[in-house]
Amino acid sequence: MVTVTSLKQPLKISATQLLINNEWVDSISGQKFATVNPANEEVICEVALAGAADLELAVQAARKAFSEGEWSRVSGSDRAVLLYKLANLIEEHQAELAQLETLDNGKPLRESSKIDLPLAIQCYRYFAGWADKIQGKTIPLAKDFLCYTRHEPIGVIGQIIPWNFPLLMQAWKLAPALATGNTVVLKPSSYTPLTALKVGELIIEAGFPPGVVNILPGFGNTLGIAIARHQDIDKLAFTGSTDVGHLIMTAAAQSNLKQVTLELGSKNPNIVFADTDLDAAIEGAHLGLFLNQGQCCTAGSRIFVEEKCYPEFVARSIERAKKRIVGDPLDPRTEQGPQISQIQFDRVMHYIEAGMREGANLQFGGSRVGNRGFFIEPTVFTEVQDQMTIAQEEIFGPVMSITKFRDIDEVIRRANNTKYGLAAAIWTQDITKAHKIAHHLRVGTVWINCYDVFNSAAPFGGFKQSGIGRELGEYGLREYTQVKTVTVKINQ
Ligand code: NAD
Ligand code: MG
Repeated sequence: MVTVTSLKQPLKISATQLLINNEWVDSISGQKFATVNPANEEVICEVALAGAADLELAVQAARKAFSEGEWSRVSGSDRAVLLYKLANLIEEHQAELAQLETLDNGKPLRESSKIDLPLAIQCYRYFAGWADKIQGKTIPLAKDFLCYTRHEPIGVIGQIIPWNFPLLMQAWKLAPALATGNTVVLKPSSYTPLTALKVGELIIEAGFPPGVVNILPGFGNTLGIAIARHQDIDKLAFTGSTDVGHLIMTAAAQSNLKQVTLELGSKNPNIVFADTDLDAAIEGAHLGLFLNQGQCCTAGSRIFVEEKCYPEFVARSIERAKKRIVGDPLDPRTEQGPQISQIQFDRVMHYIEAGMREGANLQFGGSRVGNRGFFIEPTVFTEVQDQMTIAQEEIFGPVMSITKFRDIDEVIRRANNTKYGLAAAIWTQDITKAHKIAHHLRVGTVWINCYDVFNSAAPFGGFKQSGIGRELGEYGLREYTQVKTVTVKINQ
């Protein structure tokens, strides 16, 4: 047990080991790693470091629970009961979990408590509701036959999640996998293992049988890739960078052809027309980019503004960025905390330098804030050209790029001119124009006159190199079941 005393309310951190078969254990190697608070660069605590030998034990436990253990005998309605219990326990612990998330990740407490926690709880409840509604069809063949389908769980699922929304990405992965009757080996990001482990305690308390959920903190290039290569893992669900997505597909292809779903990076267009409610568009574009320190796969990092309203949009967006409150993420007024790590800080600063070098107009920000913690000023570039590095690559930081356009066909072409295709937004009062553009954009999600609207019922995922498969909603369930066809001769 570690107690963090620097907070107003001391926070006890009890879950720092590996969760295998409902037991908390040290890693076989005995190795640990430190997790850091990015707001002050201090070590919060050490966490057991899982490796390949620990993975073997976790996969064995998950396999046993799936095929011969208690889990395979639990009905859909009983799985729902467990998921509802878990949601209730997370709700009871939400203040503690929000604080822990902010401590480990650096995101403002007002976001972890108002966004991450409610969405995670909603996600467990949403999929709990589906657990007893996973059903196939009867299919008419010739009259002598009865043919029906069963939507069966896939088996042992490997899940690798990132550091930007640790609790929420855990919910997006665990809830549908468990609702459909699979068992799981989950690896949180090594930057943010703490809330995933705390949820592990609540999973045991809720009464999930041993082996159903196993949680292994560890590094991507050792444990993560071992999960992707494992011969006895039936499916891998990953959220993170497109580069690692390529490695995971390769590992799956070279091992057992496990199914893969990927939720990857993007470079999302946010298109603003002069006929829109400009107040809403400016605030929507501000939050659409700066939310979570810009560390969102949906960050609206290419803002296309119609020429007619470009000067006003730019001036007011700069004013808004200047007002953004950067600082201690535990302070309830704070809008922007630190980047997750030194590595990400350096990456973002490198992109800011590239923007200046390639001739974009740096209107505000661009520098470090303070000398402790990985804080970066909200940064605004204008006159950004499509071929510039900051318009092409995912920055994953608080760097806004604004560019102008003249007509609809031009903006559709430019918006689609990227290898990514996760999300986009359109701001206009003209519904015909809005829908026309929405249908032409090669992205998985389009928001019209809003941004980052997430709900467990609405499917989410990428076109092109932003991913494979969908999470959330009814479509998210499909990725965790496989169809079996049963045909019976009934007229002997
Ligand atoms: P990453 O892809 O390296 O990490 C995501 C997860 O994958 C972590 O759990 C990590 O441990 C694991 N991982 C890393 N290398 C692996 C490997 N070889 N095999 C298996 N698993 C591996 O992301 P990052 O380095 O932490 O961040 C870099 C960039 O990734 C960011 O700048 C951003 O562009 C992107 N990113 C995207 C998302 C998203 O939500 N789509 C989330 C995080 C990061
Ligand atoms: Mg951390």
